[in-house]
Amino acid sequence: VTAQERNANPNFEPPEASLRPQTLDDYVGQRDLKEVLRIAIQAAQGRQEAIDHLLLYGPPGLGKTTLALILAEEMQVRCKITAAPALERPRDITGILLALQPGDILFIDEIHRLNRLTEELLYPAMEDFRLDITMGKGQSAKVRSLNLARFTLVGATTKVGSLTSPLRDRFGLIQRLRFYELDELQQIILRTAGLLAVPISPAGAQAIALRARGTPRIANRLLKRVRDYAQVKQQPEITPTLASEALDLYQVDKRGLDWTDRLVLQTLIEQFQGGPTGLEAIAAATGEDAKTIEEVYEPYLLQIGYLARTSRGRIATAAAYEHLGLTPPNPLLP
Ligand code: ADP
Repeated sequence: VTAQERNANPNFEPPEASLRPQTLDDYVGQRDLKEVLRIAIQAAQGRQEAIDHLLLYGPPGLGKTTLALILAEEMQVRCKITAAPALERPRDITGILLALQPGDILFIDEIHRLNRLTEELLYPAMEDFRLDITMGKGQSAKVRSLNLARFTLVGATTKVGSLTSPLRDRFGLIQRLRFYELDELQQIILRTAGLLAVPISPAGAQAIALRARGTPRIANRLLKRVRDYAQVKQQPEITPTLASEALDLYQVDKRGLDWTDRLVLQTLIEQFQGGPTGLEAIAAATGEDAKTIEEVYEPYLLQIGYLARTSRGRIATAAAYEHLGLTPPNPLLP
């Protein structure tokens, strides 16, 4: 029985199911993290217990949800997937917690966005597998405690620093996901191409990997766009030339930056003389949401050294100027 079949209950349905690897062996990269999880899985199985609560953090699209589903697969349990914005009312989380069976995994995405009430319901649930429900109001209010199944909470966040410490402290394992290496992305693209039955050469996969910003989700998305292009141009196989032509058309440049990435850098350079500038000012000038810039765009720009964070704000580096074909001011700010 696969996690998908166990998830036949409509409440337990994983998105993007078909492209996701289903076992740790199929999951490319993140070697250290996989080793940590292998040990956690084996130890829990040896003791016939649920795995400790696990917090995964890192930029979007690096494989956090996929890992939660793999854990369920490896432990032969179900995985309920939800996200903090879907847990607005206390009864949202209580309903989910009460439906969990022993060993089940509850995956909460964007866990740094939980509201206080929901978060406080989670504390005893995580620690003592107990749900404290307040019945009635005011003077006559009573707290009733219900026992919960021993479950595993897998939390995912792009901003580990935004978690409150009581919540963070209740996770037994806290693990970071890293951007993927070029050869890992190439492997992911070849795997996905196999699943989609898209003919592609290893060099073609590498050309797409070069523009995938270290991120499997982006690698898969670019592959689909290149597949469309190849089909319409009636090309039998994705080659490096074809991949480059297609991605140029979609305005994904040679470092994988898209229109918004370039807008952020350009704004910082042209309107703010390269910075230092606060996030809010950049957001206002570009019309992008500050949170999205911080959680989606910045991490990769920081990773490739186009952007630097200082105590006084963000600065564009010499590499960013060069990438945009601009001359860096001299002397350049540190
Ligand atoms: P996150 O939850 O971190 O935003 P996901 O788990 O949804 O990311 O992963 C995004 C996509 O990338 C999924 O469709 C999955 O198929 C693919 N993916 C992620 N990590 C890997 C990996 N290590 N190997 C293969 N495919 C991966």
